[in-house]
Amino acid sequence: MVCEKPIAFGEIICGNCTEKFYSPSLSEGDFKVYHYGKYEYPLSNLIKEFKYHSHPKIARLLGNMLAKFFIDLKFPELNYTVSYVPSNYSSIYEKGFVPARLIGQHFSDLLGFPLINLFSSKTHKRQAQLNYRKRNENVKNKIKLLQTPPKNIIIIDDVYTTGASMNEAGSLLINKCDVLIGITVAKAYRYSFNSSL
Ligand SMILES: [Zn+2]
Repeated sequence: MVCEKPIAFGEIICGNCTEKFYSPSLSEGDFKVYHYGKYEYPLSNLIKEFKYHSHPKIARLLGNMLAKFFIDLKFPELNYTVSYVPSNYSSIYEKGFVPARLIGQHFSDLLGFPLINLFSSKTHKRQAQLNYRKRNENVKNKIKLLQTPPKNIIIIDDVYTTGASMNEAGSLLINKCDVLIGITVAKAYRYSFNSSL
């Protein structure tokens, strides 16, 4: 699916590509956001395939990758609740398809944490069409909290580009919870550079 190499029945990615996905980094702002890999070939191909064709096996693979990542990062053992950055892709994706929610579902199932919908989004333009400044404006004050947040929260997203959506969502929680961790599948390096883990 990602490269041309033949793969075993039941597999979707060759072992060579799977190894290349892992390239962790950290974005530090008001809270820490951990990225499993970089948004470049071959991981970017996998994410595009997942988002544009709502591929359920890829959602499971990405959820598995993030769950293993979370365990490897050795966070304190707490009762975490998982949520996800809202998206407004309904115009181009299937109705109700929220990529980050699907990844978050597999992630939370594997780790035994509950998954809740914490945010609603009123953004109107797809973030991918906008530059850095416009992305921040597009999400500023547009993401709303739907319920009182739990104490220890993990927010999942697929791709972190400017961080506008993740940081807007996090800003609604930062003073209301004890622990807040962001985890994304990939970090895009089009706009800024951050330290490696
Ligand atoms: Zn491959």
